[in-house]
This record gives sequence, C-alpha cells and structure tokens, in this order.
Amino acid sequence: MNWSARTRAVNSGRQDGEGDPANVPITPTSHLGLGYAREDGTDTWRAFEDAVGDLEGGYATSFASGMGAISAVFDLLPAGAEVVVPTDSYAGMRHLLGHAETSGRLSARRLDPRDTDAWLTAASEADLLWLESPTNPSLFEMPIAEIATAAAAADDPPLVAVDNTFATPLGQQPLSLGADIVMHSATKLIGGHSDLLLGVTVTSSDRLAEQLREARMRGGATPGALEAWLALRGMRTLPVRYAAVSATAADLVARLREHPSIVDVRYPSIGGGVISFELADAATADAFCAALRLIRHATSLGGAESTLERRAARPSDAHVPAGALRFSVGLEDPDDLWADITQALKQAR
Ligand SMILES: *Cc1c(COP(=O)(O)O)cnc(C)c1O
Repeated sequence: MNWSARTRAVNSGRQDGEGDPANVPITPTSHLGLGYAREDGTDTWRAFEDAVGDLEGGYATSFASGMGAISAVFDLLPAGAEVVVPTDSYAGMRHLLGHAETSGRLSARRLDPRDTDAWLTAASEADLLWLESPTNPSLFEMPIAEIATAAAAADDPPLVAVDNTFATPLGQQPLSLGADIVMHSATKLIGGHSDLLLGVTVTSSDRLAEQLREARMRGGATPGALEAWLALRGMRTLPVRYAAVSATAADLVARLREHPSIVDVRYPSIGGGVISFELADAATADAFCAALRLIRHATSLGGAESTLERRAARPSDAHVPAGALRFSVGLEDPDDLWADITQALKQAR
C-alpha cells in the first residue's frame, strides 16, 4: 500500500513482532555483544531514523543537535574544499563555516539566496552547495531542483545539501528534487515541543549515510536517548501540527497584510509555521514585543507555543531589516493570537 505521509509519520519505525513494545523504549546503552552505542547506535536512535528516513525518502542519521549534523556534513569535505552558502541563513551554520575559513580548513563563498544565476554558476565550481529554503530568518525560497540539476551536470558535481528545518518533509522533500543530503534541526518542528536538542541528516545514498555515521562516531555528536525518543514522539504528530500551524499562519498573514501598522509581510509559497513581518523601526518592534501577553519573545521556533523574535537585534543577523520580526506560529487559537497581536500593535504605536 502507498500510505500517505500522515499515516507513515504515525506508523514508521515500529517493530511489529508479537511481544514487541508498541513504542520503542528509551535505550540509554549499548547492547551486550552488539558493540558500543557511539559506533553502532541504539534501538531508540534507529526507530527515530527509520521514521525520518521514511518521510524524507532516504537514509537518516541522527545527531546531538542540528549543528552536530551540519558539522558532520562539513567533516566529509577535504581540506581546502569550497562551500557555498546563502547570505541569509541560519547564523550558527555561518559561524561554523566562518571558523573553518579563518582556520584555513575550508573556503567559503556567500551568495544571495535570491540570486539564482550566481548559484547556477557556483554549481560547476564548488565542492558543497549548502542550500536553505525557506531561509532563516527572511524566508527566501531557493529553486532546489534547478540548482541540483545544474550541480549534477557539472564535470565534477558538488554535493548538494538542503537545510529543510523550516519546510519539514511535509513542505518539500529535497532528495526527490535532486539533493544529496537533507538536514534538519529536529529541535524545531520535528520535535515540536521546545523540549529537546537534536539534529538529523537524510541522504539519497547509503554510502553517504555511512560516511555521516562515521563522522558522528569520530566527532561524538551522538543523540541522547531521551531526546531521540522525544523527537520520535513529536514526529508522530508532525503532519497534523504542520497542517494546523500552516492554516493558522495563512490566516494571520491575510490579517497582517490588511493592518496599516505593518510595513511588509513575508510567507513562503510552500506554507509552514513561520511568518516574517516588519514594523516601522526597531523601537516600534521592541515596544510591540514587550506588549505581547500570549506570544512569547523567544529565539527558538517550531514549538506548540507561539514565539517571536526581532532578529536584527542579534549581531549575526544585522542584515535583516531593523523592524522585522520572525514569528513562529504555534497551536493556539488563531483568534487569540490575532487579539494579542492587535492589542500589542495598539500599544506600540
Ligand atoms: C536551529 C536551526 C539550526 C541549528 O540546529 P540546533 O538543533 O540548534 O543545533 C540549523 N538550521 C536552522 C534553519 C535552524 O533553525
């Protein structure tokens, strides 16, 4: 049977033998006679990996955090390799690459995610194209299939990796668009409850997955047993949560676009739970954040609770408009969220 993603999210990664536990237990240790957890993994990691791999359509490897997963991908590259990244993208990834560049291990090229021509040119020159779509925090969308096709046509094809944290496998499956590696911060929407740190890669080939498992074994960015278990539990409800936050976000985007105090509203064409909207200036945006009563002013995103942050307040995202707010829509009633937004806008004026 061809089960839908919603059905597979609930049922993949389970054991179905008579006497098997209905849900994977938290296994914090190696199995006797079967090696060492950091090298060989545990049942809990594998159940989570099977479920993510099923949804993304590839071979999954879990890590201690999203950054642990990104480090493992960079670790696949030889010294001096060139990595191309979007200028608007997750700040931690840019920091990691900047450090590798300063220390002389990797070379970096930073391109505007909207400049598709520049990416198509880079596809025949670089060793790794690191895409993020939609980007964090500005929600720019990159043409993954077009860039992956150009990469595949190069004499010496670069690896194409996509940070799919914002889209989740419900929004898009980059492996089916030609990418080699998908990466998630499962800390965000996959875990879905702001109560864990976890990362995962999913690859089109088992060979790449094996290399990433070796990088994990060497570097030691292994997932915690509880975190892998919680992330799998979160993933069971990812499709219904993703549908719910997408519906609420679309509703709020329509209302925000009508509001006279809002300068600009950005929302990805593929949907999802993150909105970006802009107020007149930094002072107005800060006053708005301080006046919110329901929506929390916090940096993480993808949880059950709505959170919002003025990213330009952080030195790493100084390129973002000063009054822009990244809004992670939660599972609350959309009317309550709107009531909170309008009362805070009134106070911030
Ligand atoms: C949070 C985030 C990361 C990093 O993940 P951690 O789990 O915090 O290490 C990477 N990419 C994006 C888009 C993120 O939002």
